[in-house]
Amino acid sequence: MKILVLNSGSSSVKFQIFQMQEVKSIVTGLIEQIGEESSTITLKLNSGKVVTRIQKIADHIAGLDITRSLLIEEKVIESLDELDGIGHRVVHGGEHFSQAAYINESVMQKIEKLIPLAPLHNPANLDGIKVALKLSPNVPNVAVFDTAFHQSIPDYAYMYALPYHLYENQGVRKYGFHGTSHHFVSLEAAKLLNKPLSSLNAITLHLGNGGSATAIENGKSIDTSMGLTPLEGLIMGTRSGDIDPAILFYLSRTKGYSIDDLDRLLNKESGLKGICGANDMRQIIDMAEDGDKKAILALEMFNYRIKKYIGSYSAILGHVDCIVFTGGIGENDDMARANCCKNLENLGIQLDLEKNAIRSKEARDISLPQSRVKVFVIPTNEELAIAQQTQKVVQDMRM
Ligand code: AMP
Repeated sequence: MKILVLNSGSSSVKFQIFQMQEVKSIVTGLIEQIGEESSTITLKLNSGKVVTRIQKIADHIAGLDITRSLLIEEKVIESLDELDGIGHRVVHGGEHFSQAAYINESVMQKIEKLIPLAPLHNPANLDGIKVALKLSPNVPNVAVFDTAFHQSIPDYAYMYALPYHLYENQGVRKYGFHGTSHHFVSLEAAKLLNKPLSSLNAITLHLGNGGSATAIENGKSIDTSMGLTPLEGLIMGTRSGDIDPAILFYLSRTKGYSIDDLDRLLNKESGLKGICGANDMRQIIDMAEDGDKKAILALEMFNYRIKKYIGSYSAILGHVDCIVFTGGIGENDDMARANCCKNLENLGIQLDLEKNAIRSKEARDISLPQSRVKVFVIPTNEELAIAQQTQKVVQDMRM
């Protein structure tokens, strides 16, 4: 079974084809700068061969059409009809979708209706879907939502203490994001613990450019740090995470900041970048090692915020089987992991510092044998997770 995964942005599309029997990726690629004179398509084949084409690509349909030709030229596929399914990453599924959905007219309408909640992402995701349906009308398309895994969060956790009509009429509530990743690593954690996902209690920490923490009880998300948008929660590369909302009124009144100014401030100019000027964790670590005080402060703030979430999620879960680190930072930054888990023995968390320092691409346990709560590093693979969910929807349809 071959599944194509598409992650469509406004000016770029990431794609990957999986051979599902062997759980193997056969090609990855990226279409960049769509709409510009020198758009680029890059294919990376399993043989190690990299194919790059630079030319004007007017829109998504032109981009995918050229990609199709390249895939055929490189003998990856003979035609798009050979695919068993196309899985699309869709950022916002609102309250409509608690799992992946076979795409039909009604699903597309729902994704469109949710555009006000994800104005940057849902329109591009929908473009990708429309193009795929046009180029390969015989292949089933499946939407896999970033929000779906969090639909199990109970109302007392997803509601904001705002007038109730804002929830009823405007949909103002916590939705959460990175759901595909939190779900994927929780499945892997259950395997490492040799127990079914349905009896797993975990705190999963997806730490990349964007970051979120999720509390998982009996395999289901019961709380997560991101909210109505991906701005709430942890300190991220350029996003503030949790702040006192009154800061916005204060800045508006004293500095005349507009809504757009505030949006840019919190989403693009805050977080690690706001504190120390850099948002790439590797650069910040280098700056801190050179004695840059703001970089040191940024790292302390980053770890402190994560620790607060570990504490609060330990409280709501009661029993925790494991903590999972994933994402670019979670998978690679041993100092961040060590600092986030420091002095948490009272919560049953005891890191093995030697194991933590070993670099590896494998899912692994980095806690001491006596640690009541296991600490795992599990590389996330959102594309594979999308392919697996797509495969399931396609197989269920065929039955
Ligand atoms: P992601 O969004 O998941 O790709 O993660 C990107 C973040 O991971 C960036 O802040 C990178 O600096 C960080 N990262 C990647 N590799 C490392 C590493 N070896 N040590 C620390 N941070 C890393």
